[in-house]
Amino acid sequence: MEHLQSAGLLPTSARSLAPLRLWQPASIADAVSCLQRCDAPVLLAGGTDLVAQYNEGLSPRTLVDISRIEALRQLRQHDGVLHIGALVTHHGGSGDALVRRLLPGFARAWSRIANPRIRFRATLGGNLMARRTRYEGALLLQALRAQLHFTGTAGRERIGVDAVWHGDVPAHAMLSDIEIDTRALVAFDYERSLRPLMTQAVSVWREPAGLRLVLVLATEYLAPVNLSLAVPGLQPQQLAARAPAMARELLAQLPVSFDDGQVTADYARHAGAALLARQLESLHV
Ligand SMILES: Cc1cc2nc3c(=O)[nH]c(=O)nc-3n(C[C@H](O)[C@H](O)[C@H](O)COP(=O)(O)OP(=O)(O)OC[C@H]3O[C@@H](n4cnc5c(N)ncnc54)[C@H](O)[C@@H]3O)c2cc1C
Repeated sequence: MEHLQSAGLLPTSARSLAPLRLWQPASIADAVSCLQRCDAPVLLAGGTDLVAQYNEGLSPRTLVDISRIEALRQLRQHDGVLHIGALVTHHGGSGDALVRRLLPGFARAWSRIANPRIRFRATLGGNLMARRTRYEGALLLQALRAQLHFTGTAGRERIGVDAVWHGDVPAHAMLSDIEIDTRALVAFDYERSLRPLMTQAVSVWREPAGLRLVLVLATEYLAPVNLSLAVPGLQPQQLAARAPAMARELLAQLPVSFDDGQVTADYARHAGAALLARQLESLHV
């Protein structure tokens, strides 16, 4: 070891790792039990963000490697409700036949996250739980009105995606799967041409009185913000014709607090409305 280090054959970061215990549970129950009783446990999924966290000073005393838990890799649907296991990777999920059939717009968006080397390893659960505003998973899932299932010693608990930003997640629990109810979804589209400045996802939902548009915007530094517009009597085929007016009306709701020093609310309103109009005009409905 010393020879390797003095020859420069080990990265300096490897030398700076503090001693830690590694747990490799084979079931969700074993992982949860460790979360409750191990010393300062940190979950490891694909590890692509944890590497960055190490460089930022993270020094866990216990690492809980959940990558062997097969139940977290499952993708299944029942009556139009899709469940994506927390360990499903960007590559695996975006290429999955079920996801592509139920949520083609989401599959397209998911397929654009990160580079091929990362996509084979990085998980959707890790993307969300890293809680970095520049990551795209939360924005996409917020626009899809996804629910997150956490499993802890008390059982399963369901929370909205935005709760993650407020640190409002169940204690001693892990994200086990992500639920998306596609039954009322008419269309979904993601626009990232202005990334890293800003990104936005739009979803259109069928409601008893007409349609509801949901737009979620985020910037490099601002967590996703939800805007919503109910349009009574609107039919999916009329979306394109009314796109510019609806886009302006939705973006007018953006609060002035949406300002990260690079993107102001005014800029986001104008750019967002132009992009949204284009998105609505090109939706496949
Ligand atoms: C070069 C590069 C390019 C990238 N490009 C993009 C991009 O274009 N768009 C984008 O959105 N992202 C991008 N990313 C980020 C990437 O998507 C995330 O790093 C990845 O999804 C994290 O998943 P992971 O499995 O590696 O998580 P890990 O690194 O293992 O974990 C991340 C965090 O989540 C926690 N965690 C993991 N799983 C769970 C769970 N089940 N329950 C509770 N907590 C959990 C961990 O404790 C840790 O805090 C990029 C990353 C790299 C390195």
